[in-house]
Amino acid sequence: MRVEVDYDMCDANGLCVEVAPEIFQLDGDDELHVLVKHPGPDHEEAAESAARACPKLAIALRETD
Ligand code: SF4
Repeated sequence: MRVEVDYDMCDANGLCVEVAPEIFQLDGDDELHVLVKHPGPDHEEAAESAARACPKLAIALRETD
């Protein structure tokens, strides 16, 4: 799985950070960073919860081989 963020859509409201702080982080300039770009099995559920929580639909989860 690969995490993609559409930064044009993201308004830095931090909801994904609340749901999955181990994957997403907002810096002091309100820029979102993806800490775990390729979540393994232990992070997949959190990544999916964060994607569902994003009101801007800015988080896409892509399947990888
Ligand atoms: S929940 Fe969506 S809009 Fe909010 S910071 Fe995360 S990616 Fe951006």
